[in-house]
Amino acid sequence: QAKQMGRNRYQLFDPEAANAMQSRHRELERIRQALQHGEFQLYYQPKVDMRLGQVVGMEALIRWRHPERGLVPPLQFLPLIEASPLIVEVGEWVLHEALGQIRQWCAEGRPLTISVNIAAHHFQQRDFVLRLQTILAEHPEATPRLLELEILESAALEDIQSVRGIMTACQAMGVRFALDDFGTGYSSLSYLKQLPAETLKIDQSFVRNMLEDSEDLAIIEGVIGLAKVFRKEVIAEGVETPEQGLLLMRFGCDHAQGYGIGRPMPAEQIPAWMDEFATNWQWNLWTDQHLN
Ligand code: C2E
Ligand code: MG
Ligand code: MG
Ligand code: MG
Repeated sequence: QAKQMGRNRYQLFDPEAANAMQSRHRELERIRQALQHGEFQLYYQPKVDMRLGQVVGMEALIRWRHPERGLVPPLQFLPLIEASPLIVEVGEWVLHEALGQIRQWCAEGRPLTISVNIAAHHFQQRDFVLRLQTILAEHPEATPRLLELEILESAALEDIQSVRGIMTACQAMGVRFALDDFGTGYSSLSYLKQLPAETLKIDQSFVRNMLEDSEDLAIIEGVIGLAKVFRKEVIAEGVETPEQGLLLMRFGCDHAQGYGIGRPMPAEQIPAWMDEFATNWQWNLWTDQHLN
């Protein structure tokens, strides 16, 4: 017993743990500083209606332009802050930035929907709806209709009653919802029925193997079928090849997003990309030739 107490006591002053805490503190400080110094940037990845060859919107994806490390992808820094109040600060910065971009593209005659990923901890803040309302009010020239929030299916399932309430309140302001990474969160059908999201977003892990793995293909077919039954839109993410895109279209998938269509890019590159897409999109022609 004494030995055990001794060990516990030792752990209290464990220099390794103290070091780890200190380095974590430094990381968080560095991220806070990045926010203040304007080191974050949104990239935009197109979402398209493959059959019509039309762009339906853009997903905003955060990047950190680190002075020494270069362009840092979100999964290298968001997990560090996902349970801290910083995730709310970063999330609100993303919302402001996206709404500013909606206004700018509207002014240029491109009324594009922008989808913003919202972390679970951010979404579950008690004042989320009120804060969103305030942010929307600060951007009177950006219509909330063009803002979509992507919530992880797994996060939406954590507390379905409260999530449902938040979604409904946001929808009353015009904002729409997509359930991101859908298929990975084990939604039961009765849960899905309670979630008023407009869109299901098929996780890219299923799309990646859909041509080789008949179970992944069956999941995709199932999600598309669910979307039809619940009258929701369905989008596939991670579409890299025409073969994947064509099969998704044949199954009745409404929209698609992926490197095979367009990579995430800075906002300035979007107009040129859209012009190029409008002239060169081919998959609709492919459909007739290859799928009958
Ligand atoms: P997500 O929302 O599921 O976004 C899709 C991710 O897949 C993005 O990675 C995107 O660049 C990547 N991707 C798109 N098409 C393809 C493809 O064809 N093949 C492959 N292999 N990957 C593709 P990214 O930008 O690194 O973002 C990773 C995750 O970080 C996102 O997953 C999202 O959960 C999170 N995230 C990104 N930006 C934000 C943000 O502003 N706020 C929050 N809370 N989370 C964000
Ligand atoms: Mg997303
Ligand atoms: Mg996703
Ligand atoms: Mg994901």
